[in-house]
Amino acid sequence: MSTKRFENQVAVVTGAGRGIGEAIAKRLAAEGAKIAVVSRTESNSARTADAINAATPGVAKPYAVDVSHFDAVQKAGDQILADFGRCDILVNNAGITRDTLAMRMSSDDWDVVLQTNLKGAFNFTRAILRAMVKQRSGRIINISSVSGLMGLPGQANYAASKAGLIGMTKSIAREIASRGITVNVVAPGFIETDMTSVLNEEVRKGALSQIPVARFGATDDIAAAVSFLASAEASYISGQVLAVDGGMSM
Ligand code: NDP
Repeated sequence: MSTKRFENQVAVVTGAGRGIGEAIAKRLAAEGAKIAVVSRTESNSARTADAINAATPGVAKPYAVDVSHFDAVQKAGDQILADFGRCDILVNNAGITRDTLAMRMSSDDWDVVLQTNLKGAFNFTRAILRAMVKQRSGRIINISSVSGLMGLPGQANYAASKAGLIGMTKSIAREIASRGITVNVVAPGFIETDMTSVLNEEVRKGALSQIPVARFGATDDIAAAVSFLASAEASYISGQVLAVDGGMSM
């Protein structure tokens, strides 16, 4: 495997200000891609872009946009395409949780999670897809979750958004398979990030007991899977769900 397998390619990574998205952006950059670093807050996208540029000057540019806003995302997508001239890889990673039992879940808890996790991925795909179709090549990778495969208590909203991503992925994969574009899902298990650091010791212990490899995942575990699916080696893989979860969902 070439260490620069994404040379002359452009990747857009959403939710790249922290956590899994930051690791994905850094990995794709280390393998030669130019990176549009997208996150909700300007300071976080700038920090990731600065860190990438410190290692490889001039390859990353930060963008602050709320992925749940259709019009703002179309504008950001146009700006990214104008700045970089193309887009080869889109990683829809931005996501949030608003965990609570369904009995207590508010309308807002439901809406904001679906708008961010599911509609956000649609919004960015819509903004970038036409350029990929014109190029007749591209890779779209949507970050789902074991929660979308198995369901988890307290996550009716989140699990619905993550399962929804899988259906969306397969539909779009079928629409554009003949244009050299693949669309796949990576479904992480329990990964050490800000999202999981808020969970209490009891929940963490319970989660660990369900992971056959007996450890929590690292952000680099997810970045490695994304890098593979984004590569030329994965050109015959589309519409698939790759669980990277230490065996949790098997
Ligand atoms: P973090 O909470 O650490 O980071 C989330 C990132 O998403 C941040 O960069 C944040 O931006 C961005 N984001 C959130 N909402 C929006 C929005 N409306 N518009 C734009 N950007 C937004 O999460 P993780 O790194 O843990 O998770 C990344 C993805 O992986 C998510 O989709 C999550 O559901 C999924 N996942 C995570 C698991 C885990 O165990 N950690 C397990 C399974 C799936 P900002 O930095 O500006 O706030």
